Amino acid sequence: LEFLLETDPAIASLIGSELGRQRSHLELIASENFTSPAVLAAQGSVLTNKYAEGLPSKRYYGGCEFVDEIEQIAIDRIKQLFGAAAANVQPHSGAQANFAVFLTLLNPGDKIMGMDLSHGGHLTHGSPVNFSGKWFEVQHYGVSPETEQLDYDMIREQAKKYRPKLLICGYSAYPRIIDFAKFREIADEVGAYLMADIAHIAGLVATGYHPNPLPYCDVVTTTTHKTLRGPRGGLIMTRDAELGKKLDKSVFPGSQGGPLEHVIAGKAVAFGEALQPAFKTYCGNVIANAQALSSQLQQRGFKIVSGGTDNHLMLVDLRSIGMTGKQADLLVSDVNITANKNTVPFDPESPFVTSGLRLGSPAMTTRGMSTTEFVEIANIIADRLLNPEDDKVANDCIRRIATLCEGFPLYPHLSIPVPA
Ligand code: PLP
Repeated sequence: LEFLLETDPAIASLIGSELGRQRSHLELIASENFTSPAVLAAQGSVLTNKYAEGLPSKRYYGGCEFVDEIEQIAIDRIKQLFGAAAANVQPHSGAQANFAVFLTLLNPGDKIMGMDLSHGGHLTHGSPVNFSGKWFEVQHYGVSPETEQLDYDMIREQAKKYRPKLLICGYSAYPRIIDFAKFREIADEVGAYLMADIAHIAGLVATGYHPNPLPYCDVVTTTTHKTLRGPRGGLIMTRDAELGKKLDKSVFPGSQGGPLEHVIAGKAVAFGEALQPAFKTYCGNVIANAQALSSQLQQRGFKIVSGGTDNHLMLVDLRSIGMTGKQADLLVSDVNITANKNTVPFDPESPFVTSGLRLGSPAMTTRGMSTTEFVEIANIIADRLLNPEDDKVANDCIRRIATLCEGFPLYPHLSIPVPA
């Protein structure tokens, strides 16, 4: 940052402010994490200068001998992590990965079926504001009103009537285990392709804490920056090497130009980290911490959608305390907690207001916090939301959060630049 401070003090000081914010806030956004210093170093490297259209050893540009090796290492490591026959690590994001899959398997106007956005699905699973909803015919499934969990019989009945060409599982706000074998049965019954988008749970899958979709799905997509703890990006995997070649073509030249080799290097580093035993310990802690947070919130009287969590995230249903997600988001944000408002299943409020707050444990687990700290986090959230008008309580929450953050330093090797 010292170089940057000289050439562009405005940007340097804003990056410094962002580092300060990340250090001093409780990061509970379920889709965020803190990558390792090694991933940051790979991403901030000279690799950003290199054009490398094509695939390792099959490029359209010269000078690719080193990025070829880097990208091949990323591919080999991710295949090893998930047991995939083929992988493409070039998608710039999770949305780009999904786009490339649609381009491979579907034609405009084909029928797709995925989870409703308001029940935990993602925009790219058929939302009318996204390409997936604009170019394809969509029917959404939701969770059961009784259990707030997937009801496979209900999904089967719907799929039999609708007969989609592509069935999508994997979600942005679903706290329970997904039964990929059941989804495979349904897809086979109706002759559909099956895609799992494991953007949120990839780290948990890689370490065996969540079943692996690879044996059951035609295609698996993911982001690399959530529980997998890599740089911001996406990737595609398949158990079918021939399909893998088609997917490669849909990424480049189908939907992207030159790959971001500096990000791919960051992905390679993160996948290497994910292959280490310490990452398995980390993912176990992510789940234990989420469960501690969820149970303590329940103890304090909050309703948790589906009654708890099996993974890294939970949805707090705020209707029981007469509050909206928007209000809760602002209240916790005032005391230095970063989370996000989120619809709950069958939400009566609009997506801008919502009745829920989505919380996740990956980022603060990376900082080293354990169940003890997560119980304290639950108590801080409860104190704040149950006493929204009380400034004394708010100040106390701010103080307790500062103590927590100071106890678990983030990126201690980095310094905040101070202009001369
Ligand atoms: N798929 C799922 C299930 C997600 O939760 C997300 C992001 O939150 C994405 C895809 C899109 O990822 P990106 O924001 O990298 O495009």
